[in-house]
Amino acid sequence: MQKQLYMNGEWVEGQQFADLYSPHTKELLAQIPQATAEQVTQAIDYAEAARVEMANLTALQRAEILEHIAQLFKENRQRAAEIISLEGAKPIKFALAEIDRTIETYKFAAEEAKRLTGEMIPMDAAKGGAGRFGYTIQEPIGVIGAITPFNFPQNLVAHKVGPAIAAGNTIVLKPASQTPLSGLFLTELIAQTNLPKGAFNLVTGGGRVVGDALVTSDKVKMITFTGSPAVGIGIRNKAGLKRVALELGSNAGLIIDRDTNIDEIVAKCVVGAFSNQGQVCISIQRIYVLDEVAEQFITKFIAATKQLKVGNPLKADTDIAAMIHADEQLRAQSWVDEAVANGAELLTGGKIVEGIFAPTILKKVAAIEKVNCQEVFAPIVSVNIISSIEEGIAAINDSNYGLQAGIFTKDIQTAFKAAKELEVGGVIINDIPTYRVDQMPYGGVKESGTGKEGLKYAIHEMTESKLIVWNQA
Ligand code: NAP
Repeated sequence: MQKQLYMNGEWVEGQQFADLYSPHTKELLAQIPQATAEQVTQAIDYAEAARVEMANLTALQRAEILEHIAQLFKENRQRAAEIISLEGAKPIKFALAEIDRTIETYKFAAEEAKRLTGEMIPMDAAKGGAGRFGYTIQEPIGVIGAITPFNFPQNLVAHKVGPAIAAGNTIVLKPASQTPLSGLFLTELIAQTNLPKGAFNLVTGGGRVVGDALVTSDKVKMITFTGSPAVGIGIRNKAGLKRVALELGSNAGLIIDRDTNIDEIVAKCVVGAFSNQGQVCISIQRIYVLDEVAEQFITKFIAATKQLKVGNPLKADTDIAAMIHADEQLRAQSWVDEAVANGAELLTGGKIVEGIFAPTILKKVAAIEKVNCQEVFAPIVSVNIISSIEEGIAAINDSNYGLQAGIFTKDIQTAFKAAKELEVGGVIINDIPTYRVDQMPYGGVKESGTGKEGLKYAIHEMTESKLIVWNQA
């Protein structure tokens, strides 16, 4: 039951432990070591010592290690998914989908490892460049500190571990306190590969102690963080000159144009709003629907939402289970209550039933309500009726966040307009803002973060470009 830390290729005893409970059954799952600052420093030292060996691996060796990790996930698909469901209450069908994406993410990382190149510089384009030959190479940055959230405990970890290995870096991973078992399972798989000792280290424990030790260490050259804006901003303020990539939250918006075939999009909207209990950074939080089709959409959206199966996350047909913590469900409830007290209309849900916060649809929600302007991170969506596309674009842009936005339209000019005017990191045309495949550039503007993930882009951020100039004269 007592788990261990992992550093320099060895399992290491913890000194203090925290109990880990299932959000669904409330049973005790394990006792998780809470690494001390000294243990984190030790893990960083091992990662630092492994830098040269890691950097000297060939592209093929790095790719083979990543392929091996992907293969091990394939062989252990069910087990890896069950761990996510147990510790994170993610319904098993979504957990299995996460493992399938994790496999792809490591495979993309393996492929990118093989095409990591610099560029040729046309030196003789300058007056002083005659006889010079110049090119850049991408060198590993060194030790990377990775801090990850609970909501995709394998795939979002893969978005850090995959590119770090592909680029020839070493890594110290701190998984979220509620989902450390997925990090520990990944560690068991990595231990079976040829990754050099010390190149991957796992330190579990609280954000404040473990996270701080990583963020403030001079030996850590980059922090790659996915999580909430509040923690991300705190990290940036403490990180000094080290590189920081921040993948933060959002209140993603979707516009539905008057020419949309509502029957074709309702099921997608339900998945986008409620999968993983809405605890997805690009979960649909705000829907702006043109008045001509609003009534039809709302009626069908409510009906489809009511069909969702609520219950045990380990059952194959469950769509909705408990949120990550009981107090998060109470927060969700209080935000809905507040919006309703201020005039919003509750169309379905809005309360905790048998320990699970029910999928919730609100209408006529003022822009200043928390459920609208803050990141709700719960199975709650607001439907707002608009009379023009401009109104929808303005409403989506009226946000501190800007990760992705979606628009359903058959009008090409409207699509171009939305693509140009929406202030977000990614515009998804004719699909929900929740759409993501793992090789695409992914990252937000405003308080949704800085830097891009998607293997090629993350690898670029995890390398230093070095210029080499030859004088042939
Ligand atoms: P969180 O509370 O910010 O935690 C994320 C990670 O940061 C956890 O490992 C946490 O550790 C750690 N942490 C907490 N305090 C810290 C500190 N002072 N210094 C360093 N690290 C610290 O986020 P979460 O609740 O796990 O995840 C939900 C958030 O992640 C949402 O805002 C969501 O939008 C965002 N997210 C963004 C993306 C994206 O790609 N943009 C993807 C997924 C999720 P503990 O668990 O020990 O507190």
